Amino acid sequence: MTYVITQNCCKDASCIPVCPVECIHPVGSPGSFTDTEMLYIDPDVCIDCGACQEECPVDAIYPEERLPAELARFRDINARYFEHNPLQPDIAEHLDAHSAVQQGTLRVAIVGAGPAGCYAAEELTRTKGVEITLVERLPVPFGLVRFGVAPDHQHTKNITRLFAETLNSGTVNCLFNVEVGSDVVHDELMAHHHAVIYAVGASASRTLGIPGEGLPGHHSAAEFVGWYNGHPNQAHLDFDLSGNRVVIIGNGNVSLDIARILLSPNAVLATTDIADHALQALEASAVREVVILARRGPRQAAFSLGEFLALGQMSDVEVVIDDHGLDADPSDDVETAVKLEIAREYARRPSSAATKRIVFRFFAAPDEIVGDDRVAGLRVTPTELGADGVAVPSGESEVIESSLILHSTGYRGSEVPGVPFDAATGTVPNAGGRVLDESGQPVPGVYVTGWIKRGPRGVIGTNRTCAEQTVGALWEDFDAGELASDIRDRVELGELVATRDITPLDWTDWMVIDAAERESGAASSRPRAKFVDVAAMLDAVRR
Ligand code: NAP
Repeated sequence: MTYVITQNCCKDASCIPVCPVECIHPVGSPGSFTDTEMLYIDPDVCIDCGACQEECPVDAIYPEERLPAELARFRDINARYFEHNPLQPDIAEHLDAHSAVQQGTLRVAIVGAGPAGCYAAEELTRTKGVEITLVERLPVPFGLVRFGVAPDHQHTKNITRLFAETLNSGTVNCLFNVEVGSDVVHDELMAHHHAVIYAVGASASRTLGIPGEGLPGHHSAAEFVGWYNGHPNQAHLDFDLSGNRVVIIGNGNVSLDIARILLSPNAVLATTDIADHALQALEASAVREVVILARRGPRQAAFSLGEFLALGQMSDVEVVIDDHGLDADPSDDVETAVKLEIAREYARRPSSAATKRIVFRFFAAPDEIVGDDRVAGLRVTPTELGADGVAVPSGESEVIESSLILHSTGYRGSEVPGVPFDAATGTVPNAGGRVLDESGQPVPGVYVTGWIKRGPRGVIGTNRTCAEQTVGALWEDFDAGELASDIRDRVELGELVATRDITPLDWTDWMVIDAAERESGAASSRPRAKFVDVAAMLDAVRR
């Protein structure tokens, strides 16, 4: 008997150190980002102890005999990974916790309470004596876990239990509803902390740079995801769901999330924490077809195999894919080989009686969003793969008709006033987490972690190794005496914040909001009913 890692794997790698026979791979060291989509268990080495399952924060690990039917294929996928990547005796290099420091000698501000900030806090709280201020512009924590992870992926949201342990540990002083750059500025944070770690993510969208982008009916994936997840900045938006077809440009996991949300039965969505306004709008939706468009081929697809496999199990949805470019190639890595296998299976499936379809179009680049006063369609040009792996146009363009077009072509970070920023990449220039100035020199005491550090790639748990690397650099600088010593204390920070016209919230306030959301969700058997505007969140605390 063996344990099996499945679709939901967050790559946080909590399972790796607890495995007594080191059969979970690939193993990374702090800052070395392994390039697989998920982790795998070697069935020939697993001793069936169950330690990994107990440790997994997102319930992605099952004993093989209890694998749910829809995940059964992961037994084979785990085994195949090791056929191609025989187990090497390379053991995870996890940094030992730094030895305890005297209270008051290391006070760190972390900006952003999403997964990157929470993992940085967790890493720092392993050392006694460290004081942490966690600053978050919204009144609620958890960033992308609350506002990015799709509502039908509730298991992934379980990671917040781990974060809550850290944030509620007494070491972390939460300052929610406080924006760095306006309510308090970078220099003020620096004056009250020995170090500041920016974990502000990448919430803006890349633009397409094609004509028609400004037409009503064209939106970014970030807007649509924020809308269905009840982000206060997007909750008020309207999306035209009156047409039969939606086109999504780009085929990463965000595109697949959106396709599922658009086509899932309302009864399924109604069991999740999707925002109420989105649930109502989707109930009235006329959308029956989602076209997922890629400028390159299936071999270059950005979606991960678990998410791709899950589409084929949706009820009343047919996955349509043409069989061009799906042939196996012995040089493919396991994940690509399995994706192509799944794609061939979809291509071979006889047409079903399903009333909805997800159509994968490959080798089609977006050229222009067409329409007079609003979106009527997307002009696409066929492509082929150039020698350097880039899509090059080849052939006559055509228009795919649609009244709603979403571009899901990746995110980018935004500048925080006072902190270096590279507008070309949408990240903060850094070396292993140390922020660099214009001349490439480290800015003392300033660090980054998460998407603002390495760009919008990787799953929730990737932020753990990322935080280990950044916090490792911070400790090196602390030990070398390179952090400022003459700083003001926590009381003075509180006095400064009190002079601003803002309502800072702390962990206890979040607990009140959390309880209110859970209580109102329970009335309709949902995990929570989210507050979607800041005023409602503040009202819940005052009540
Ligand atoms: P992504 O994985 O980077 O995918 C972006 C897609 O946009 C690619 O298909 C890319 O194609 C395409 N693209 C970029 N520029 C384009 C252009 N100008 N014209 C046409 N297509 C263009 O981004 P994402 O989906 O936003 O995901 C971000 C990260 O979050 C990923 O690491 C993802 O795995 C992760 N995530 C994971 C989950 C999950 O595990 N369930 C869910 C959501 C997000 P090219 O390859 O040709 O550039």
